[in-house]
Amino acid sequence: MPVTLHDSLTRSPRELHPSQPDGVYRFYNCGPTVYAPAHIGNFRTFVVNDLIRRVLELEFGPDKVKHVRNITDVDDKTIRRSREEGRPLAAVTKEWTDKFHADCDALNCLRPHVEPTATGHIPEQVGMIAELMQKGHAYASADGSVYFKVGSFPGYGALSRVKERELQVGSTLSHKPQSTDADEKEDGSDFALWKSWKPEDGDVKWPGPSGAAAGRPGWHIECSAMSRKHLGETIDLHTGGVDLLFPHHENEIAQSECCTGHQFAKHWYHSEHLLVDGKKMSKSLGNMYTLADLQAKGFSPMALRYALLTGHPRKQLNFTLDSLHGAEKALTTLRHFRATLSPKGGDAAPFEPIFAALRDDLNTPAALGALFTIVNRGPSGIEAAAFERVLFALGLDLTAKPLQISAPAEICALAEQRWAAKQAKNWAEADRLRGAITALGWSMLDSKTEYKLEKK
Ligand code: AMP
Ligand code: ZN
Repeated sequence: MPVTLHDSLTRSPRELHPSQPDGVYRFYNCGPTVYAPAHIGNFRTFVVNDLIRRVLELEFGPDKVKHVRNITDVDDKTIRRSREEGRPLAAVTKEWTDKFHADCDALNCLRPHVEPTATGHIPEQVGMIAELMQKGHAYASADGSVYFKVGSFPGYGALSRVKERELQVGSTLSHKPQSTDADEKEDGSDFALWKSWKPEDGDVKWPGPSGAAAGRPGWHIECSAMSRKHLGETIDLHTGGVDLLFPHHENEIAQSECCTGHQFAKHWYHSEHLLVDGKKMSKSLGNMYTLADLQAKGFSPMALRYALLTGHPRKQLNFTLDSLHGAEKALTTLRHFRATLSPKGGDAAPFEPIFAALRDDLNTPAALGALFTIVNRGPSGIEAAAFERVLFALGLDLTAKPLQISAPAEICALAEQRWAAKQAKNWAEADRLRGAITALGWSMLDSKTEYKLEKK
């Protein structure tokens, strides 16, 4: 049974099939901009993409999926941060890339096969811009920047329906330019492929394409150049959060298709945003959480993953701290169920509705519902290996220990260290940490697979 996923281009569900003769499914997912910690909204998108990767692997085989996710390590925000902190750009972006990886690991997201950086692909981007200039799709402005000529690509707007939308309100294509370089453009809807150096860019600059000044690439060309290099001219699936549909993805299509003359992506998928307490997450509202914020409150990363899976990826999901309490409970139930499964024999068929729900446009609420129907019926006659396949598909790691909600962060950290020492059979260190926990008025009770903290 094939996997079906909603396609933003045709606005309909479509089956996924590899389009190249080697049978490898080519999957590109827009990655993070690394200048600050990613928030849990960003992680909703990355967890959904990890789910796609897992479902694809189950469908086509683990060696028949190639997953590429970029790192945006040069743009206005990263440069501003490096200037504010008086640190080199590379130092800032490395710090936040490492943190992003640590959070992805904690959320049990599989690493992409290739994770290209924008700064590591400057020649590819410059080459593509030069090609677009030669073909008459781009021009250099007086200040040495390069712009894409939107009017030169008749297909512009097919993904976002931007033309239809604008025509309906009786105006011209009028995506408002966000930068101050509007005067440099021949047309307001043209967008930057290359941005000429400005004093605030400091030492961040590279030689530009012929006819342009030194500077740096625009954001959109990055994904066109890196997907072309690592996945070829036509990719099978391109994804991102819904806010990337326009202008980012529309612009990627224009750049890539004008350069290669081939269809850029066979399938487009956009997942919806995470809201917090019914509102958009934002710093000013004080409702923006990072994974570290939730861990400091005593929640485990796996509880966040579970809570994120409870919503349909194509619907907005309202995040509450209460949903994490529920998620911790659900994970405990799953751990008990797993511990009572008989390793011998058993039936895999009861799990089929879970896989069917995931194959049907990643219907995670239905998949979790079907899972708990089985769990509530009890473990008898259930095949343990099939349960592990379900856990793989959902990316739920039940060996990750639950944190204790009531213990302060300091105690949780000591308990984590002691658990790790014990796993490593470092008994002296484990005893020392137990002593430290006891001295602070807590006790740690161990079972085989997890521990509990209790206040004395
Ligand atoms: P950025 O690092 O800003 O480029 O964003 C990384 C990814 O997170 C993109 O795919 C965005 O679409 C996505 N994203 C941003 N805000 C949210 C949100 N509140 N909920 C879900 N995804 C988001
Ligand atoms: Zn992108």
